[in-house]
Amino acid sequence: MTGHVSLSREAVARLTANTEPWLSCDDCFDQVDAAVEALLGSTVPLAEGFRAHLLGCAACHEEAQSLAALVAEHHDLTAADAVARLDAAVGA
Ligand SMILES: [Zn+2]
Repeated sequence: MTGHVSLSREAVARLTANTEPWLSCDDCFDQVDAAVEALLGSTVPLAEGFRAHLLGCAACHEEAQSLAALVAEHHDLTAADAVARLDAAVGA
């Protein structure tokens, strides 16, 4: 066989992201406050399961972005900076 199926880097990341640890939207919702606060307040990376869920779930990603914008001022960040930091951590 010659050649190979070509996947974009994004597609590969998405496939990889869909592996464990698997988090439901409910689990994600329970953790999103603490995870976003921790992310903006420290240099600790997002928990892998949480990160993977946000990467694959647009609804939770948007929820996290809204939250980041909301708590941005607690961390001396603008809403845009907080969202950018979240997106960078998620790898979106
Ligand atoms: Zn979700």
